Amino acid sequence: MALSPELRRALASRLAYYRELGIYDFYRRPITSSLSAGSAAADLSNPNEVAIQPEQREEMSPRKSAAVQADRGSVFEVLTPRSESGVSDPIRALKLIREDLGDCTRCRLAKQGRKQIVFGVGDPKAELMFIGEAPGADEDQQGEPFVGRAGQLLTNMIKAMGLEREQVYIANIIKCRPPNNRTPERDECETCSPFLMRQIAAIKPKVIVALGAVAARTLLAINDSMSNLRGRWYEFAPTGVRSEDPSWNSAKLAVTYHPAFLLRDPRQKKEAWKDLQMVMKELGLKPPAKAVE
Ligand code: SF4
Repeated sequence: MALSPELRRALASRLAYYRELGIYDFYRRPITSSLSAGSAAADLSNPNEVAIQPEQREEMSPRKSAAVQADRGSVFEVLTPRSESGVSDPIRALKLIREDLGDCTRCRLAKQGRKQIVFGVGDPKAELMFIGEAPGADEDQQGEPFVGRAGQLLTNMIKAMGLEREQVYIANIIKCRPPNNRTPERDECETCSPFLMRQIAAIKPKVIVALGAVAARTLLAINDSMSNLRGRWYEFAPTGVRSEDPSWNSAKLAVTYHPAFLLRDPRQKKEAWKDLQMVMKELGLKPPAKAVE
């Protein structure tokens, strides 16, 4: 929807007022009314819109829609203040985002047994980012994503691609362990994922690999099976935030199985390897001698 300069100024002024009150986070309610043809066309012309074929768009269940219900290209994207605004150095930007997160109690997971926040780890200038679902027990204990058995497998997968774990960036959709490793709730994802979006905009990866159905469906807003989601590229722009680098506005996103799933069903490793080979080709990585073990 196009906003008049006057309305934009009024909104900017209102947001500045909220900022003075210490309110920094804004979320738009899902739009329930049907869009007019004109506004739908305007949405499709938005450069931040994820490039999804119309036939792939399916209604998501309320829980699965999670973070992607946040705005894409709304006025808040431009006006919501961020502490890392104007900071082009990814190391500094990530530090500011982490400081902003603080000892976060923004959602109920803060009080449901988490030991610590698991922010993300790796090279702040990484070309390749892996995004999983949520921390588990080992991650909660150590404060680092993917450090348990599934983490070991992910490290092996990264090595099989000819990279070291330190050369990529690894994060999750949410940053606190849900009790009993349950699937994150929609509102938890909505509350937490803006920080992930800011991390992505700061790191500016060339390629993002979504690990598992929850990460893929949340990032892409597509409620589909893994077999349909895998094996293709998506254009992904972080929701509600723009990079400080005008030359970067999106990453290519691929979907593969979560390492925890591969531990349960090792026969799927071959399929995962195909996904990783697709990523390697995109990044110009040399194929290693042998596949994932
Ligand atoms: S999951 Fe995210 S939003 Fe919820 S308390 Fe943890 S860091 Fe905060």
